[in-house]
Amino acid sequence: MGRYPLKPLVVLGATGSIGMQTLEVAERVGASIHAIAANRASQSLHDLAVEYPEAIVCVASPGEARERFEAEFGNRVRFGPEAFVVVAATPGSVVVNGVVGAAGLRPSLAALGAGNRLALANKESLVSGGPLMLDALASGGGELIPVDSEHSAIWQCLVGESSDDVKRLILTASGGPFRGMSAEELASVTIAEALDHPTWSMGPRITTDSATLMNKAFEVIEAHYLFGVEYDDIDVVVHPESVVHSFVEFVDGVVKAEIGPPDMRKPLQYAITGPTRVPAGHTPFDPIATTLTFEAPDRAAFPCLDLGYEAGRIGGTATAVLNAADEIAVEAFLAGRIRFVDIAGVVDDVLGRHTAVRPRTVEDVEAADAEARVHASEVCAALMR
Ligand code: MG
Repeated sequence: MGRYPLKPLVVLGATGSIGMQTLEVAERVGASIHAIAANRASQSLHDLAVEYPEAIVCVASPGEARERFEAEFGNRVRFGPEAFVVVAATPGSVVVNGVVGAAGLRPSLAALGAGNRLALANKESLVSGGPLMLDALASGGGELIPVDSEHSAIWQCLVGESSDDVKRLILTASGGPFRGMSAEELASVTIAEALDHPTWSMGPRITTDSATLMNKAFEVIEAHYLFGVEYDDIDVVVHPESVVHSFVEFVDGVVKAEIGPPDMRKPLQYAITGPTRVPAGHTPFDPIATTLTFEAPDRAAFPCLDLGYEAGRIGGTATAVLNAADEIAVEAFLAGRIRFVDIAGVVDDVLGRHTAVRPRTVEDVEAADAEARVHASEVCAALMR
């Protein structure tokens, strides 16, 4: 410690997988915790509030536990979604945004607007609010550092490089549990099969999105906003081992990649301490025991990938619609109401009905999102008949 200036952390989504791994990384690198925030006043948030007695505790929807939290933690507890926005704007902090869903956008904008470093794991911030995020980054003078393994890999490959020298980004995709299956075979896959991801352990929505390749589509859109690269210059390659986290090809033909055993704590740590590297005691990389294979994604069997490119090229609110429609379709699939292969059809239908605009405010994004949810629910209901 002391080799680098470590700012206090604001951990949004503290009780989720990203949040818990952030606290682990913070412990290891010696970062202090300024605030922890979670959607519900769960027992795990309570335990964290006890474990971090100096931290501000934010609860978006406290429900019946409100009084208990107030009685126990006094004036260091804050309630409501606005509390996330306020702590994200704490000057001189690093904000790790591991919020799940559209609720992550406002705190992301607040962090960037306050000139903070934003370690971004909330996908909706860039997929739904990309143009707003770039505005906030430019006006607030903060830093936007990706936490997702693919984008962290590209980020690290670009350290010391000029963006003018980038020819192409190649995002790797594990291919999910249904890699190699035909559209026909996919017609009868079950919910349990979709939730059985080969390499990463994540929540049900993102695991289903990995199975449809929609998650990769979202990552293509995020890469476009993060690195200012056009969609024609972003490729996806299926790499089942998830060891190469992504590639950058430069104009002189040189290709860089970031490689290692999959472990979210590495990109998380880099987003917090980078460009300083801190010893971490991770699983060592063993090239002899590692086999790397690559194949082209099956765009016909997994049409969500191209739907992402399509929405990305339309731009503006189209990608917010892509995300909202997908969320409703995935919910319907996980509830057993539509088939796995119907997810892409629902998203395609909803996207086709939307007239995209460039969002000026969060309300513009929310309006597109809300409209898409209504349309998607209608399409799902029609499929059930
Ligand atoms: Mg990823």
